[in-house]
Amino acid sequence: MTLLRVPPPLPKAVDLKRTYDAIVVGSGAAGGMAAHVLTSHGLDVLLLEAGKQLDTTAELKSLEWPYDHPRRGDMPYTSHALRGAEYALRKPPYASKDSPWKTVQSYVQGWNGSDYSKNILVNEKEHPYTGTNYAWVRARVLGGKTNIWGRLALRLSDYDFKGKSHDGWGEDWPISYTDIEPYYDKVDLYLGISGHPEGLAHLPDSKFQRATRLNAAEVMLRQSMAKSGKVLTPYRAGVTTDGLKHNKFRSRCFGRGACNRRAGGCDIHAAFDSPTGLIYPALETGHLIVRTGSVAREVTVDPATGKARGVSFVDAATGEIMEARAKAVVVGASTLESARLLLNSKSAPHPNGIGNSSGHVGHNFCEHVMGPGVDGFVKDLVGKPRTLDDGRPGGFYVPRFRNLEDKQKDFVREHRPRGQGQVGRPRPALRLQVRRQREEDGRGHGHHGARDLRRGRHRGRGPRPAHPHRRLVDPRAGHRAHGQRPQDVRPDPAPAVARREEPFRRGRQQPRERVLPESDLDHHGPGLAVV
Ligand SMILES: Cc1cc2nc3c(=O)[nH]c(=O)nc-3n(C[C@H](O)[C@H](O)[C@H](O)COP(=O)(O)OP(=O)(O)OC[C@H]3O[C@@H](n4cnc5c(N)ncnc54)[C@H](O)[C@@H]3O)c2cc1C
Ligand code: SF4
Repeated sequence: MTLLRVPPPLPKAVDLKRTYDAIVVGSGAAGGMAAHVLTSHGLDVLLLEAGKQLDTTAELKSLEWPYDHPRRGDMPYTSHALRGAEYALRKPPYASKDSPWKTVQSYVQGWNGSDYSKNILVNEKEHPYTGTNYAWVRARVLGGKTNIWGRLALRLSDYDFKGKSHDGWGEDWPISYTDIEPYYDKVDLYLGISGHPEGLAHLPDSKFQRATRLNAAEVMLRQSMAKSGKVLTPYRAGVTTDGLKHNKFRSRCFGRGACNRRAGGCDIHAAFDSPTGLIYPALETGHLIVRTGSVAREVTVDPATGKARGVSFVDAATGEIMEARAKAVVVGASTLESARLLLNSKSAPHPNGIGNSSGHVGHNFCEHVMGPGVDGFVKDLVGKPRTLDDGRPGGFYVPRFRNLEDKQKDFVREHRPRGQGQVGRPRPALRLQVRRQREEDGRGHGHHGARDLRRGRHRGRGPRPAHPHRRLVDPRAGHRAHGQRPQDVRPDPAPAVARREEPFRRGRQQPRERVLPESDLDHHGPGLAVV
């Protein structure tokens, strides 16, 4: 199989006189899957995507080493990623037109390797968020957030579907795990998912491809947790580790260097993304038309029947408003955008917006909940030879272990830690190490590298605030990045805003085994200490 490295051109010509079998709005996980399934059954589908088509194969550069990038993977200094505290303290919109930054993006853009996701996440200056304080992560490109997701791919169980029956809280879903299991199986076999079967009722196994290996620290943690009946399993990733013979746009995972870069992305598309996993194969059926730069503004309704007639959309480049027609409309523009579109689709038969007779659209949805991260040493491994532990789609995952047989007094349901064991690099040594590596490579620091070191810029950090000692910083003289000398260094205060970065900061201060919270660190949950 030859991997296709160039995305296919998208047929954009939309026939506004024709009635398509279906219009799908949005091309992310939801819209991509809808378009794929419908076209595979021979239906003619029009897919409307607000963002542009981006060549993520060229954009993500998963094989690029930090020292081959002028800013160690950081986005340009003219850009800003919102901090946690900004969401709490400032009133939206978070970026005014006269903001000194060229681009202002959501907090995930502040993570490691932000230069690779800078064209994927929305620029708040162009698309200001207004409303109540909210950390909204938007990816307005073909494939939406699947281009940068953390790849943790799990199955729900009847502990989720039938939660009320189990603990008395909320409502049971009208479906159970057995209803949905055959579809999970299909998706796993079609898209590829890596993991290790554990046979747990509360975290059903998928149809796994080869699991990624736990490293030494993680094996130790697995063993120690097993003593108290808890399970630690390799990260269950939406990544094909054995390959997919039926998909020429995706390669199997080669465990290369950049998977720890978050927000993520994989330029050989071993990690699932909607364009290569769903949309490009759907295009090959000949039943799909994709129109990018098309912002849906309203689901139009046939006044005679009250049913959806099509979608009114705006051309993002020209501002022209058009209406495309279809027998059915599928809205998959992400939770918030879909709700907005439904609410904006008011008509005589649907005065509160289409699909909103209950008045619940836009209410009672659940966002990702970020939790605290913890980290620690595995003392037995301190000083041991370095191992190559990155280049994996993830580290480990701990399925829930609370409120299964027991009943906690203080909380219902669960928490599910995940994380990664990794050999940390001491901060001064990092510099020496990078330098030694470059000398060995015969490359030297180069102009940008030296400048970055002087300015104290790091891979994984945004611009630092100006420091009065900046000009004095000289790593060769033992100064630290802020201009402090080693004897000046005190533990940094940890403002709430920086809590997510804490493991990184401490990771640079001392040699140790550390657990990086995942993109992971991102939305979903905490990293976990390996102690
Ligand atoms: C950094 C990060 C890490 C994550 N990690 C994980 C993980 O490990 N595991 C996990 O399960 N989930 C993870 N998620 C969440 C997961 O990526 C999302 O839940 C999922 O991709 C959402 O898919 P969607 O199709 O609903 O929305 P999106 O992917 O947001 O797609 C919506 C699409 O609709 C388009 N659109 C929006 N409005 C309009 C409009 N009016 N007209 C036309 N098009 C429109 C957008 O441009 C976008 O392309 C992560 C998310 C992020 C950001
Ligand atoms: S480790 Fe695998 S999934 Fe991650 S970037 Fe590399 S090839 Fe892609």
